[in-house]
Amino acid sequence: MSKSIYLDYAAATPVDPEVLTAMTPFFSEKFYNPSATYLNARAVKEDLEGARKLIASWLGAKSPEVYFTAGATEANNTVIQGLMNLHRGGEVLISVVEHESVLKPAQRFANSRVPVMPDGVIDLELLKKKLNAKTALVSIIMVNNELGTLQPLRDVATIINEERKRRQKHKGSMPLYFHTDAAQAGNYFDLHVQRLGVDFMTVNGGKIYGPKQSGVLFARAGISLDPLIIGGGQERGLRSGTENVSAAVGLAAAVDMAQKSRTKELERVKVLRNLFTAEIEKIPAVSINQSKRHQSPHILSVTFKGYDNERLMMELDEMGVQAAVGSACSAANVEPSRVLSAIGLSAQQARSTLRFSFGRQTTEEELLKVASLLRKLLSDKI
Ligand code: PLP
Repeated sequence: MSKSIYLDYAAATPVDPEVLTAMTPFFSEKFYNPSATYLNARAVKEDLEGARKLIASWLGAKSPEVYFTAGATEANNTVIQGLMNLHRGGEVLISVVEHESVLKPAQRFANSRVPVMPDGVIDLELLKKKLNAKTALVSIIMVNNELGTLQPLRDVATIINEERKRRQKHKGSMPLYFHTDAAQAGNYFDLHVQRLGVDFMTVNGGKIYGPKQSGVLFARAGISLDPLIIGGGQERGLRSGTENVSAAVGLAAAVDMAQKSRTKELERVKVLRNLFTAEIEKIPAVSINQSKRHQSPHILSVTFKGYDNERLMMELDEMGVQAAVGSACSAANVEPSRVLSAIGLSAQQARSTLRFSFGRQTTEEELLKVASLLRKLLSDKI
């Protein structure tokens, strides 16, 4: 593949060489099934449990609260379907800017949605209003994958705690739980579940320089979930199937690196994002869709008024620049993005919007080059 400028880190991150090194032995000399009882297999089981412990320590959780999954989609489905199957008659409350892997399972149950304000941040007053005696689960994305909006999870946790207190006074009331999909958050933000005040959290290896189809569901001890995948009873019965030890070990290395470097990386990427923003804002057709208050620096949503995003994306691609039309998962959708509609963009504006996302390998030089290409591309069209 030719050298290109990759600006789609929100879709996939390359596996870090250190992560790959940590994973490699589990394809060869450490291939054993961790459930077997001979010494070599028990050593592999220890590596698996070591990975769980390391992730638990970053999440501020106990090891048995960490369940390995094949990515974020599975973790989101496990919590939503697993919980709501046990609380029939309950409702799930989500935001209008959730990823499909939260939206679709939520739609299998009674559900309602909290709108966002024009800057993409959920409306906390409306969240309070939408919480009702039947709400069993609130699921709010931590960092949105199209806009980069960072949602105020601690404020949501406070609202949920107040509602729990009210329910305590009524015997037999519905339990209320709080989940966050933190798939996009791990490189830049603290994932400590106690500090965030969540009962469930989804972590995604494929966005933090770990392997694809690696992930974790944190589930607070004592909360029952109906397993989606049943069989041999691995992962304490929640997720049967021979454990993917290489993925778990790779994920643990990735979480460790991401959480250790998150503060520095946040600042570095913020500087790059600001530089890129300042450069492209010189183009008259450009407007930026982001929150001034709550924003992850790695995602920049840009509307190019009057331009077709598909065409612009392809033209950039031909020049060696990879950016996204909306989120990767909806790249094949003909419908305009529902997330962009949620912040008030018209269908036409949504179809003129590209997502640029940055990561560890992104440099100032690359961004200046892309800004200059965009200026050239757009001025040719006037
Ligand atoms: N949640 C969010 C916020 C995402 O951005 C993604 C992927 O883009 C997912 C969930 C699903 O992740 P995966 O496809 O790796 O399961």
